[in-house]
Amino acid sequence: MKKDLICISCPNGCRLSAELLPDGAVTVTGNACPRGEAFAQTELTHPMRSLTTTVRTAFPEMPVLPVRTKGEIPKEMIWTVMGSLSAFVLDKKVRCGDVVIDDVAGTGCSIIATLDL
Ligand code: SF4
Repeated sequence: MKKDLICISCPNGCRLSAELLPDGAVTVTGNACPRGEAFAQTELTHPMRSLTTTVRTAFPEMPVLPVRTKGEIPKEMIWTVMGSLSAFVLDKKVRCGDVVIDDVAGTGCSIIATLDL
C-alpha cells in the first residue's frame, strides 16, 4: 500500500511518500527528519489522533465546556469516543487541565478540560 502524506509532527509539513511492504516494513521518502519516518510508520500501521471537542455541562452559565484528549487515541475510535461524549453531562466544576472523563470509551486516554468551569 502506497500513500502520500503530510507530516503533522511539526509546522514544516513535509510531503511524504510512504509504502507499507508485505513484510510489514514501511519505506518513507520526503521526510526532513526521523520524526517524519515515525509519523508515516504510525499512519500506515495504526494511525492515532488527538481529539478536541466540547461536552455538555449541568451549569447554565457555561452549557458546554471545551475539552480534548490528554494524548492520542486510535483513529478508528474517534466516533466511538464522540458517541460516549455526546451522552455525557459534566456535573462538577473543573479547572483547565482537570480530568473530565478517565479512560474514555476504554481507550486508556483521559478527556481533560481546556477551560475553567
Ligand atoms: S519530517 Fe520532520 S521536519 Fe518534516 S514535518 Fe515531519 S517533523 Fe517536521
